[in-house]
Amino acid sequence: MSGGGRGTAVVVGAGVGGLATAIGLRRAGWTVRVLERRTAPERYGTAFAIHPTAQAALDRLGLGEALRARAVPYRGARIRRPDGTVLAALPLERVERRAGRPELLISRPYLLDALLAELEALGGVDIEYGSPRGGPGGGADADLLVGADGINSTVRTTHFGSRSGVRALGTVAWIGIADFETGVYGETWGDGRFFGLTPVEPGRSNWYAAVPEATTAEEVRAAFADWHDPVPRVLADTDPAGWIRYEMRHLHPALPAFVAGGRIALVGDAAHAMTPNLGQGACTALLDAEALTRAVAARGGPGGLPAALRAYDAERRRSAQRVALASRTLHRFVTGRRPALRDALTGLLPG
Ligand SMILES: Cc1cc2nc3c(=O)[nH]c(=O)nc-3n(C[C@H](O)[C@H](O)[C@H](O)COP(=O)(O)OP(=O)(O)OC[C@H]3O[C@@H](n4cnc5c(N)ncnc54)[C@H](O)[C@@H]3O)c2cc1C
Repeated sequence: MSGGGRGTAVVVGAGVGGLATAIGLRRAGWTVRVLERRTAPERYGTAFAIHPTAQAALDRLGLGEALRARAVPYRGARIRRPDGTVLAALPLERVERRAGRPELLISRPYLLDALLAELEALGGVDIEYGSPRGGPGGGADADLLVGADGINSTVRTTHFGSRSGVRALGTVAWIGIADFETGVYGETWGDGRFFGLTPVEPGRSNWYAAVPEATTAEEVRAAFADWHDPVPRVLADTDPAGWIRYEMRHLHPALPAFVAGGRIALVGDAAHAMTPNLGQGACTALLDAEALTRAVAARGGPGGLPAALRAYDAERRRSAQRVALASRTLHRFVTGRRPALRDALTGLLPG
């Protein structure tokens, strides 16, 4: 691959992690190709929570303004019982006080659009759609190969062995968007199932529902029929054709390294796919992308790559894996079959 600027990189995957990595590398003067398996940009998915630390990463990537133009703050969320009784407050206001800015929510398509628009404005990055080429030989001609190809990463299975793999947790979630603002936000925890509601943009709300035994929309609706308002109303008023079925999975065991061979790095779900319970999937991918590209930029051209990748691994691996573990632990806690004990413990949380 012919080099321009500082070095050449192939990024496999045009999700949040891959696009943010391409932006950071391009800003650092690298020549970047993005290989995406899908045949066109996808505008699929509901909402992303963006924690203040991930907002700071987006600021450093030059995307803070684009985020704030479309995102909405997440405040006033509560954990409830199915009858509507409040068990505890989600610690959003505490996070806001500490960080000096609120947690934000943004529609997944808007964030992907913003990343694509930034790449377009920077110029010089080819996104090759219909290119499922993370496997053997993919990216071999580049100085740096980044696997940003999600939970079933081919870059991971090709270059990091097969000890860590995808593990299903047996819970299926459904996610969707309601065309009204519910005004009631947070999570409601029942026996082995839960329902979440967040804002996502003016006039719309984001919802997610986890029900182990349900496979059809009617079964999902029935599972929540006697829950507090607006839960049954949200399910009744949204078209199941727009619902997304989401199998809860994570990467297990955790990888011993996010980097290999002095020239290959994994970011996002490829490195540490986690359950969505903490809403940290996009945040951790953005933090990875920013940290990796900052480390690469600080060490100049391809000669500095081994040191840059070591620095990236040291900065991000333990931190991301701690978040993944916490997310899985919360998943077990929320879907546990001892709701009385769980609710009693939750009631002890500071408000
Ligand atoms: C379609 C979709 C919808 C989602 N919706 C939501 C949502 O609504 N809310 C939420 O919180 N999270 C959602 N997620 C998960 C969330 O996007 C990720 O957890 C998080 O953003 C980490 O992103 P990532 O870039 O690491 O991985 P991903 O977002 O999974 O992106 C990986 C990209 O790599 C591509 N790819 C995979 N294999 C190859 C290959 N061999 N060669 C080339 N390209 C490849 C994929 O097509 C994809 O574009 C969704 C993920 C997907 C793929």
